[in-house]
Amino acid sequence: MPENTMNLTLIKCPSCGGPNDPSPGASQMPCAYCGANLTIPKEMRRGANPVVEKKPSAENAAHTFEKNAPDLLRKAQPIAVKAWNAYAYWTWIRRLLPTCLTLLAIGFIACVALGIVFALFQ
Ligand SMILES: [Zn+2]
Repeated sequence: MPENTMNLTLIKCPSCGGPNDPSPGASQMPCAYCGANLTIPKEMRRGANPVVEKKPSAENAAHTFEKNAPDLLRKAQPIAVKAWNAYAYWTWIRRLLPTCLTLLAIGFIACVALGIVFALFQ
């Protein structure tokens, strides 16, 4: 019975017969005893380990994004507020400027008209 469990996890080196523990995800490895190149059979490759290795990296990526997102918002907020204020000022200027110009024009025309009227009746 122990022989059977040994065969599942260890590869016997063809040149020296030493038991080798296949590294996770590897398809080939050097013999730990004689350095001979060992090809790890598919059924002996441990596929579970690389999946376990992948999971934390994905979690880390999500974690760093969660960490960075509020930081980005904090950095972007004053810029957005400034931009919004500038836009608000600009809309006010655009609304007020023509009104001021028309009032000035009306005032100027009224002054000229009054001047002509006074000049004619003097
Ligand atoms: Zn060997």
